[in-house]
Parts: sequence; C-alpha cells; structure tokens
Amino acid sequence: LKPPNRTFHGHLRLLSSDVYSQYESIRQGKQEIPKYFNFASDVLDKWSEIEKAGKRPSNPAFWWVSGEGEEVKWSFEELGFLSRKVANVLTKECGLQKGDKLIVILPRIPEWWLVKVACMRAGIVIIPGTSQLSAKDILYRLQASKAKCIITTDKLAPAVDSVASQCQLLKTKLMVSKGSREGWLNFTELYQTKQTAPTNSTATIEVIITFSFLQKPIYPMVIFFTSGTTGSPKMTQHSQGSLGFRPLLSERYWLDFTPSHMIWNTADTGWILTSVASFFDPWVFGSCVFIHNLPRTDSAVILNTLCRFPIDVLVGAPTLFRMLVQNDLSKYKFMNLKYCVSGGEPLNPEVMEQWKSQTGLDIHEVYGQTEMGIICCVCKGMKIKPGSMGKAAPLYDVQIVDKNANILPPGQQGEIAVRSKPIRPLGFFSEYLDNPKKTAESERGDFYVTGDRGTMDEEGYFQFIGRDDDIIISSGYRIGPFEVESALIEHPAVVETAVVSSPDPLRGEVVKAFVVLSPTFSSTDLESLTRDLQDHVKKTTAPYKYPRKVEFVKELPKTITGKIKRNELRDKEWGRM
Ligand code: ATP
Ligand code: MG
Repeated sequence: LKPPNRTFHGHLRLLSSDVYSQYESIRQGKQEIPKYFNFASDVLDKWSEIEKAGKRPSNPAFWWVSGEGEEVKWSFEELGFLSRKVANVLTKECGLQKGDKLIVILPRIPEWWLVKVACMRAGIVIIPGTSQLSAKDILYRLQASKAKCIITTDKLAPAVDSVASQCQLLKTKLMVSKGSREGWLNFTELYQTKQTAPTNSTATIEVIITFSFLQKPIYPMVIFFTSGTTGSPKMTQHSQGSLGFRPLLSERYWLDFTPSHMIWNTADTGWILTSVASFFDPWVFGSCVFIHNLPRTDSAVILNTLCRFPIDVLVGAPTLFRMLVQNDLSKYKFMNLKYCVSGGEPLNPEVMEQWKSQTGLDIHEVYGQTEMGIICCVCKGMKIKPGSMGKAAPLYDVQIVDKNANILPPGQQGEIAVRSKPIRPLGFFSEYLDNPKKTAESERGDFYVTGDRGTMDEEGYFQFIGRDDDIIISSGYRIGPFEVESALIEHPAVVETAVVSSPDPLRGEVVKAFVVLSPTFSSTDLESLTRDLQDHVKKTTAPYKYPRKVEFVKELPKTITGKIKRNELRDKEWGRM
C-alpha cells in the first residue's frame, strides 16, 4: 500500500459485475483509495444494484432461522430498505447524530444486522456487547463508552434499569420486544409498524487511511470491548476504513467467497469475529450470511442445521469443534459444507484430526485479535500444518520479534508482532479509547506487539505458543501451555484442560493441569489416572513439560466469548485471589 500523492474524491463507478472487482485498480496501485467510503452505500447498496440488474445468483444476502420454525430472508435490496428505516428511527426518534455512541446487546437476531447497517448509514458509533453480560458488565460498558443510547431485549432491560441511574449520559433505551416497559421505546414497533419513511441520506464517512503514523486516524465506526481474558476489557476503536475496506484491498483472502456461497459463523454478536465473518467479509463478495439464533450451543442443533441448509462455510471457536467431535458424526450428512474455520483460541491438532477423519473436511485456522481482525490464516488451497495457524494475512507483515523489536529468524521463539510503521495498515484499530498508556504499550519500534508468543517456520507458517503471561518457566525451561494441553486432550479421559504455572519450592514453578473428565471416566481411580495422564504427556511431548500437578474439575473458568481464563486459575494457584 503506497501513500497517495493525489486524492480520489467521490464514489467509485460500477465498473464490472462484482463489487470486489471494482477495486482491482486500487489493489494494483493504479488508483488511489477514495477519501470517502461508507460500507452501506459503497458495498451493500452496490450489491443491491447488481442484484436488481439480475447479475447476482438468487440466494439471499441474509438468511436467519430461529430453530423454532421462524425464518427471515433478505435480499440486499430489502436489507437496504429496512436499514434505512432503522437509521431514521435512530436519528429522528432517538435524536442520535453522527459520532454518538450506541450500545447494542442483542442475541443472534436479524435486528442486530439492521442496527449495524443503520449505524453505518448515519455515522453512529456502534458498541456491540454479548447477551451474557451482567448488570455490572453493562454498567462498566455504559460508563466507559459514554453511550447515549442502548438497544437490548426485554430479558436484559431490568439489568440496564438497575444501573441506568449511574449513567448520566444515557438518554434513550430501546427494546426489541413484543411487550412494553416504562422508560423504554419499542424498537420493533418503531421500525416495523410506524410509517417511517426510510432516510435516503447516508453519512459521508472518511476512510481511515493512516499513511503515516503521524496522521490522526479518521472516523470511528465501532468500539469493541476485548474479551477480557487478561484483565478488564479494553475499548478497541475501529473505523469503516479499517474493517470495511480491508477485505476490498486484500486478495480474496481466507476462503475465496463468491456471491453463491453461504457462510455460517456461530460466534456471538458481541465479538469481532461476527463483524468480520458474518458481516464485512462475506458481504464484500456478495455472499449470503447465514445465522441461527442458537439460544444454547447444542451439538445436535448445529449438526442438524448443517444437514438442512446449504451452508458452504462453517466458522466457530475451537470449543465448537471440540464439542462437535464428541458426537457420532457418521449419523449426519451435511448438505453443502466445504470449508471449516476455527479462530479465537488455539485449535488442538487432535480435534482437527478427529474432525477430518469423521467428516473428510479440514479445519482452516485463523488467528486474530479485536485490535486488528485476522492476523494469520490458512487460506483456501494452502497446505495445512496441524498446530499452525497459517501465514500472515494479506496487508499485514507479521514477524516474530524480541524485547527490542528486532526480527528473529525462523524457528526462534519470540513475540508475534505486526509492522505498523511507517504505514499503519488498513485493518488496524485506531486506538484503545481513553487509554493512551495501553495504546503506547502495544507499540514497540516499528511494530504493534500482540502479547502472544510464537514461532515462524522457514515457510512463513506461524505457531502459537501462548499468551506472554501464560508461559510457564520451570527449572529454566519455557513451556507454552497449549502444547501440554494438546497432548492431554489426546487422552480419551480428557474433554477439556487448562495448563498453568503453580508454585514449587524447588523449581520455582511447575506445570499444573486442570482437567475436565469425560463422563465415562468419572469413576476411575484418580491417582492412577493422574499417573496415566503424566505418562501420556511424557510420551507425546518433551518429558520436562509433563504436568507435575493435576487437578480434576467440573468446568474451567471462561470469558463470555468462551475462552479459558488461565490467569484466573494461575492467580488461585499463587494465592493472588
Ligand atoms: P484481553 O485483550 O481483554 O485480555 P483477549 O486478548 O482474549 O482479551 P480477543 O481480542 O478476543 O481478546 O482475543 C485475541 C487473542 O485470542 C489473541 O491475542 C490470542 O491470544 C488468542 N487467539 C485468537 N486466535 C487464536 C488462534 N488461532 N490460536 C491461538 N490463539 C488465538
Ligand atoms: Mg488481547
């Protein structure tokens, strides 16, 4: 990506039959990036025109099922019409203006997608949150973000009311519900029944293109709270230019989507993965976003859905695949499934193998962060190396660096970092909002440092070792928890496990494994099982990595995005809680 020497104003003309192809000359560096870009008008509305001209296959743009017989199917045109109505509700009824912040805590229901598109049209900054948030979590988010408006369901409305008096800036509360509640506007009624004329104007939003790190980033679009795996969630701010423009400038990255593909990502709406895999990336290519309401993550529901609907791509966290391989998959015949993608946590090679042997399908791993979306991936056609999360994703120069930001050679362990200077690539967050200290800490030399440790091999494939804080140093050895966990999970007794450091008078710290047992092993003699597990690890990895301590637990502490909170287990071990 070269810095521009002239600026291209105005919208790009519809040059060919596909939105992505229109950006070809920009990808080749023959044309500058436009100064103004709005994902709603420049991508979604363009697909609507293509659709009207009969140049897109007839599959919907959005297909939602409740699991209880209800179904919603929208074309790009319908999505455009309804989102304009919602934009009108937000700007007129709720008085929100460009730059105002709106928290959206909704389960996987169609309204989430409408609100998101509407916010883009109006330039309102959207802050997604998961439906599992407690009143305390909501208070933290409302206060930290200074949001003026919140949209949620009747289920969470009481939690919001219990903390609303402590949030002076919160002016409007909207509920997606069939009922009513004092102090709340009914979102469904406002946008569905009221004769709100859809607004035609779409805000002009500047693309965030930070050609030099001196340039102040441009217009915010979304603020994600990180998962909070290692502390309080951080407010990570992105622009439309970052998440919306990146896939347009990348080669058809990760899975080569086309307008006839249908993508199902099972992640929660509060997580960046949903914005990437159920919004920007499929829609840039005119693909269909498939959503199941999934009130509970139930294997049978997921497997049956794959059998009943023509889903081509399945995206989920490793937990999803760990759960699915516990079933007899030979009973299910998937209708169309071709690609599977896992991201958010390391994927154990054992799970990958089990899935492959039972379904014939590979799992492509992606590695990313709230801060910059997908950093590494195994793209379509790439060789799969179990235990590796693929190569650097397009637009990113990913390296392994040491404490002084020196690039380390292949095979050497260090911190995973992405080059951010002199050009901050598209896709990067603009900053941690109201936290210049954290923003500064994430920069080292010419790099943004991820806080994760890993290695890169000669072919440019990255291997995840662990979060910097999770590394165990025992008798001078550095041990990444993931490798030990992957060894343990190969054992039939182990359903899930987390490995952390534990104090030891002799060695300083030792490896300790928390293990969730498979029900068939619950009556086994635990002492001999412990020895059995230790022997198994000694045989599968370097013997010094075996867990000297093993504790059997019913479940592991997890973040609401389903990630194992090793820091909580570690703090308990070290008496820090
Ligand atoms: P916080 O920053 O608040 O502690 P978090 O880092 O878990 O939370 P996210 O941005 O949701 O918040 O997660 C990004 C992190 O998830 C990465 O830094 C990495 O540690 C982990 N991760 C994501 N994908 C993978 C993967 N494929 N393999 C290993 N780890 C992964
Ligand atoms: Mg993080």
